[in-house]
Amino acid sequence: MFHIPYSGRHHVERLPGAPALQLEGLVARYPGSEVVALQGVQLILPAGVRAALVGPNGSGKSTLLKVVAGLLRPQAGSIRIYGQPVGACHHRVAYLPQRGEVDWRFPVTVERMVLAGRYVHLGWLRQPKRADREQVHMVLEQLGLAALAQRQISQLSGGQQQRALLARALVQEAELLLLDEPLSAVDAASRAIIAGVLDQLSSQGKTALVATHHLDRLAEEYDHVFALEDGLLRDLPAAQMSLELV
Ligand code: ADP
Ligand code: MG
Repeated sequence: MFHIPYSGRHHVERLPGAPALQLEGLVARYPGSEVVALQGVQLILPAGVRAALVGPNGSGKSTLLKVVAGLLRPQAGSIRIYGQPVGACHHRVAYLPQRGEVDWRFPVTVERMVLAGRYVHLGWLRQPKRADREQVHMVLEQLGLAALAQRQISQLSGGQQQRALLARALVQEAELLLLDEPLSAVDAASRAIIAGVLDQLSSQGKTALVATHHLDRLAEEYDHVFALEDGLLRDLPAAQMSLELV
């Protein structure tokens, strides 16, 4: 239910001037699988940029986000997040999994699930403080989930589940957000709320890498587009990519 990165808990300052994310020769394969999900990916994502990660099903989008989130150890290559290795600072990176990867039958309330996003900030006693709870309530409010705070997550609609996942990522107050299809299968109301939050993040200078299937508005919604195909990456300005893909 809660994704635990493979490395320990640390806090190391970001390297001044470093890109938000830099991947070199990244190779990834799932344990026991023959398929090479990422075959030598190079990527530079400058700080403050909102980038889309596109590509057909199975092209490696989720794998790339998981490797950067520290959930899957790469076989080769290097990852630098603000100039530091994966896990150097867990506060700095928030990961929103694809909705289908979460076990929504897990017996937990919306509030509790979102509070889990604060765990990276808690001290060794792991006890949330009043400030953590206030942060959770502010974000639940922002995402229109305040009235559902005490509901079991199993009772949420698809759009509400997506908003709850985004809430959990937001309370982490990360600088780099890795969002896996945050807008897939959501109703118009949820879509508007989520899109508003993404706009706000970019106006706050945060960096986002967003796996998406929505190719129609790439140039309007993103500064940059990375396109994966069979685990290989192409990298183009959003305007140019829109012309090629649509
Ligand atoms: P996307 O998110 O672009 O649809 P994925 O990153 O999920 O693509 O998948 C990339 C490749 O890795 C595909 O060939 C897929 O079948 C494989 N794959 C994904 N998840 C797993 C897994 N848990 N175990 C084994 N292979 C996987
Ligand atoms: Mg995926």
